[in-house]
Amino acid sequence: MFATHPLQPPVDAMALRSTLLRIVFNGQQTRQIHELKKKERAGVTKLREVLEDRLQEIKRAKTWKHERILTSPQDTKVKVKGSEGEFLNFCANNYLGLANHPEVVEAAREGLSKYGAGLSSVRFICGTQTMHKELEDRLTQFHGREDTILYGSCFDANAGLFEALLTPEDAVFSDTLNHASIIDGIRLCKAQKFRYPHRDLNELEHLLAHSQARLKLIITDGVFSMDGNVAPIKGLRDLADKYRALLAVDDSHATGFFGETGRGTEEYCGVTGAADIICSTLGKAVSGAAGGYTTGPKELVSLLRNVSRPYLFSNAPPPPVVAACLKSLDLVENSSELRQRLRENTRIFREGMTAAGLTVAGDDHPICPVMVGEAALASDLAAGMLERGVYVVAFSYPVVPKGGARVRVQLSAAHAPDDVRRAVQAFADVARNIGLIQK
Ligand code: PLP
Repeated sequence: MFATHPLQPPVDAMALRSTLLRIVFNGQQTRQIHELKKKERAGVTKLREVLEDRLQEIKRAKTWKHERILTSPQDTKVKVKGSEGEFLNFCANNYLGLANHPEVVEAAREGLSKYGAGLSSVRFICGTQTMHKELEDRLTQFHGREDTILYGSCFDANAGLFEALLTPEDAVFSDTLNHASIIDGIRLCKAQKFRYPHRDLNELEHLLAHSQARLKLIITDGVFSMDGNVAPIKGLRDLADKYRALLAVDDSHATGFFGETGRGTEEYCGVTGAADIICSTLGKAVSGAAGGYTTGPKELVSLLRNVSRPYLFSNAPPPPVVAACLKSLDLVENSSELRQRLRENTRIFREGMTAAGLTVAGDDHPICPVMVGEAALASDLAAGMLERGVYVVAFSYPVVPKGGARVRVQLSAAHAPDDVRRAVQAFADVARNIGLIQK
């Protein structure tokens, strides 16, 4: 039994009291909800009517999202509610296998003990701890930039960049396949907006050449998440130089593992330092927990700290998450072993699938889209894989172009090579059964 304050009742009595209070409170709440349902407000009835139509529309379009519920930690093998046994997991962004890495979990635990669960504050009021500054400094050094600002997510980093930086005098040039967070971030700003066809340097040059804007900002994903292909960073840099533009790269699917030392797409493309601004996530390879950041010129970071809305008006990242990210950066920087394992797994998968007669799109990246074409066939392929204990997800229109349905596979350093071979074998078997490849 825990010791209690002399004025407090003994712990057993306290527990009994809180259980009774909970029962009384729950009873009151249930009665309240019941009453509300009996005489529903007109506005809520209207809301149900409108949403029912919208929801039916989503179901008719076959784009309803079914969420599977994991009953185990994120890992290469997961348990799924309602299913027996474990599934081999090939659909997380857990590229380095750090999401449930013992050292990362232990660091998070220590962060929790030392600094508490959260800050109950935004950064500029009283939400900045030494560890937030330490993580920002570490990321600045990691990328070789001038300064870094942390956000709760990379979605927030992108949502907070364009509106803060660009005015109607300025222009932004965005790849058509850029991530939703970039699209939304651009929507929020008042700059002149241009979209160039995916990785099309000629079209981009045409747009840049005709722009009289004060600041010109080119923004691209480093690696495109649905296709596993890489932005032409060298060509983009050359155009940025020719037209006095800035180059920003969202490296969420590259930071920590892509390129020899994990510095991301610019390193992979042999042009380290090419981007003026990098936005990235701490919720994929680096820790898998949560968080995002923008790194680049110090004046930009100062401006963002002062006017970027998702930074100013949202809680500081919680200490256990920050501690997990710091430990993950140690693991990323101190050894190349995880990156080598990831590369080897990617090679085994891509070569095995090609030998089996299947088409895997994308560049030499652990995002491996298995191209199918028809939406129904892609969904059959994913379902067949699930029956064989391999968890993968099918994507079809409107997430990817019509006729471009696919099953996306993502490899992790934590997969054993035999896990990868098992997945290849299962793909070959199911693909044969559904007529995607010859018997
Ligand atoms: N940018 C890209 C390219 C992404 O793929 C994602 C996540 O899917 C994000 C940004 C958002 O990252 P976060 O989960 O940190 O908000």
